[in-house]
This record gives sequence, structure tokens and C-alpha cells, in this order.
Amino acid sequence: MPAHRPRIAVVIPVYREEAVLPELFRRLDAVFAARPGEEWVAVFVNDGSRDRSGELLAARAAATPGTRVIELSRNFGHQPALTAGLAHAADADAVVTMDADMQDPPELIPQLVDAWRGGAEVVLAVRRSRAEGGLRRAGFDAFHALFGRLTDFPIENNTGTFGLLDRAAVAAFNALPEKHRFFPGLRAWIGFTQGEILYDRQERAAGQPAQTMRRLIRYALDGVFSFSKLPLRLLTYAGCLIALLGFAVGLFFIAKRLLGYETANTGFTTLVTLVLFLGGVQLVGIGVLGEYLGRIYDEVKRRPNYIVRRKLGCD
Ligand code: UDP
Ligand code: MG
Repeated sequence: MPAHRPRIAVVIPVYREEAVLPELFRRLDAVFAARPGEEWVAVFVNDGSRDRSGELLAARAAATPGTRVIELSRNFGHQPALTAGLAHAADADAVVTMDADMQDPPELIPQLVDAWRGGAEVVLAVRRSRAEGGLRRAGFDAFHALFGRLTDFPIENNTGTFGLLDRAAVAAFNALPEKHRFFPGLRAWIGFTQGEILYDRQERAAGQPAQTMRRLIRYALDGVFSFSKLPLRLLTYAGCLIALLGFAVGLFFIAKRLLGYETANTGFTTLVTLVLFLGGVQLVGIGVLGEYLGRIYDEVKRRPNYIVRRKLGCD
């Protein structure tokens, strides 16, 4: 903990959030005003919104000191936007990461900061409850259960983007070269002393989730494939098992023949079943390989994660 007035940055990716931004500003400012002992910086990343979000952010940057706006050249997605925000907050002593829609209540920021002051280098906001229900909720739960089993770096159940990173953790995160970024997983991977606070996840304050179901599934797959080689290993196991079975069946028929039993030469159904089954297994195998291959391809292209159109309020 630095001796000077610590600078705390709050990184917020924004995509089509015109409906929530005014309230977000109001609530953030109230939180900032209540803690004058800290120097607050809000880093908004406008992820190619085509609504009035850009205007609202620019107006705030012009009027309110301690506002940075990073405008991306198009919509890159939640993770790249978060990455851009962290890259432009590296000068802060601690960085809070949160969503714009106030599902992560800004009023909890002081608790995150207190946990950091208490010695935690990475503070996770753990959801005691979640407002979402239905399919989305079931998907989240299934993902967490699966992810915990698949990887060597299980992410804390019920954590998302919301949390705080110490300067050193931010530097570690910013130094990661990979393109497919899965923030909760990487946050577990970088280590550091972890602390937690509990909260109740709210409903989105207004507007529609920008993260469509399709995006969430892609995000979950990113999480699994960039943190686990288990799918590949499972393929090897499945292959061995099926080969063994085939060998056993072969031996059985040879023995039968040698012992003079009659072998039927129909078996059309068996053949069709086997061919389809094995064909399916092979295609799944190729698909899994493809998931890794595609990610390797993305990584070797070395394209940047995002492109900045302009920055406001950054000296
Ligand atoms: N977001 C973004 N780019 C996108 C989609 C979302 O920057 O392409 C932002 C969005 O404005 C919000 C956060 O990422 O601040 C989380 O998005 P959302 O609330 O739609 O996702 P969910 O709550 O379902 O995870
Ligand atoms: Mg949300």
C-alpha cells in the first residue's frame, strides 16, 4: 500500500448502455464522493456502441475530471474491452473491474478497496445470489461445475468480472500475451493473495443483456479450451477404449471360427451401427482438435485484441 493518496481506477466496458449510463454515473460519483481519501479514476471503454453511449461518455469526459474514455474502433466484445480498460489503468494502485449495467452494484466498491487495504492483492466479489433465472442461470451453474472439474485452476464459484486487482496483478494481467482471454480464469491463474467479499447480484438496471446466449457459450468454450487439455486427453482415452473393444470383438470371432462354430454372415444392423458410431466419434474428435487448432491460429496471427479509435481524458 502506497504512502500517497492511492489512485483507484474503475474499469467499465460499455456496449450500448445509453439506458444505464446516467444512473451509473450518478451512483459512481456518490461512491467516489463518499471516499475523498482516494483518488478515483473511472476508465470507460466504449466497445463500438452505436447508440448514444459514446456521446454520454464524451460529455462526462469533458465535464468530470478523473474520467478516461477509450473508444474502440468497433465492437470487439466484453473481454477485449476489459483488456483495453486494464491496459489504460496500469498507473493505478488498484483497479476495480465491473460491468456497466449495475448488476455489480457500485456501492460495493469501497468494500473491495477495504479488502485490498487489508492486504488482498486480488479481491473477488462472490455472488451470494443471482437475479437471473431460467436457461441462463442453468448455463452458468453447469459451466462452473464443469470448469471446476476440467482445469487445474478452478475459478471460484459464482465469481465473474467484478473484483479488484492490485497494481502488480494488473501488470501481470497486462503482460499476458494471449488473445483468447477468459478473465475469471486468468485471474485465478496469475495467483497473488486472494480475498473475497460477498454480494447479491442484481438484475440489469435497464436495457437488454448485450451478451447474447451465443456469446456466452463461446465465452464458456474459451474458458474450457484455454484452461484445459482434458478434452484432448478424453479423445485419446475414448480412442484406446474403442480400439480395445474392437480387438476383443475380433478375437472373439476368430476363436469362434477356429473352434468350429458357425459364424453368421448377416450382421448388417451391427455394421451400420458401428460405422455410424465410429464416424460420430471421429467427427467429434476432429471438432475438438479444431477448437484447439482455431485458437492456435488466432494466437499465431498476433492481431491485437482491440483497436483504439481515440482516447479522452488520458494524458
Ligand atoms: N459489453 C461490452 N462489449 C460487448 C458486450 C458487452 O463491452 O460486446 C459490456 C456491457 O456493456 C457490460 C458488460 O460488458 O458492461 C457485460 O455485458 P452484459 O451485461 O450484456 O453481460 P452479462 O451480464 O450477461 O454477463
Ligand atoms: Mg449484465
